[in-house]
Amino acid sequence: MYSDDKHSRDKLIGTQQQLVAKGLTSGTSGNVSVRTGTGMLITPTGVAADTLKAEHIVHMSLDGTIPAGQLSPSSEWQMHADVYLNKPREVTAVVHCHSPYATILACAHKPIPAQHYMVAAAGGYEIPLADYATFGSKALSEANLKALSNSSACLLANHGQLALGYDLESALRLAETVEEQAFWYWGVLAIGTPQVLQREQMDEVLTAFASYGQQ
Ligand code: 13P
Ligand code: ZN
Repeated sequence: MYSDDKHSRDKLIGTQQQLVAKGLTSGTSGNVSVRTGTGMLITPTGVAADTLKAEHIVHMSLDGTIPAGQLSPSSEWQMHADVYLNKPREVTAVVHCHSPYATILACAHKPIPAQHYMVAAAGGYEIPLADYATFGSKALSEANLKALSNSSACLLANHGQLALGYDLESALRLAETVEEQAFWYWGVLAIGTPQVLQREQMDEVLTAFASYGQQ
């Protein structure tokens, strides 16, 4: 039943396991998905990363329809599906985790300002904060979409963070960048006052980003 997309399932499992290995989440927290031609593949709810097997990964439609004979999907499936329904087709991967410093800031309701130019990696002038809503709820999905209107990543109030990508590698990399930015912002708040870059300075960064790296 799943042999045709075994590679994608293995990559999803690898990504969830990397979240744990990199200290970006623990236990059964966090979830990962990829867009498919007919819906998405997503991690199952409540299964620890080190016990995940290819047959545990759930293939489902973006309207929530789940072909029989599978585990229950992540409680956050709606939040993943709504990203694919509302973002351009190039957005093909979503990573959600409870990384420590991002979660500290999310619990303090502090979005991350442009105190470091790499905030632009999320595509905007700050890493925004989505309003609090119960985990797994449609309200949380809607709050996230609002926060993601000008960004590829956001903090989830009293919860964690969410990062989008054009593949699993880029989504995981962005989640790591969000965590690094959160760590630096937390550190700067601890020793003094963040010196936030001007909008024009960030405009230059965003322009430079467009041609950064191997083209
Ligand atoms: P799941 O195990 O259902 O994916 O939930 C983990 C989580 O992080 C909820 O926000
Ligand atoms: Zn969560």
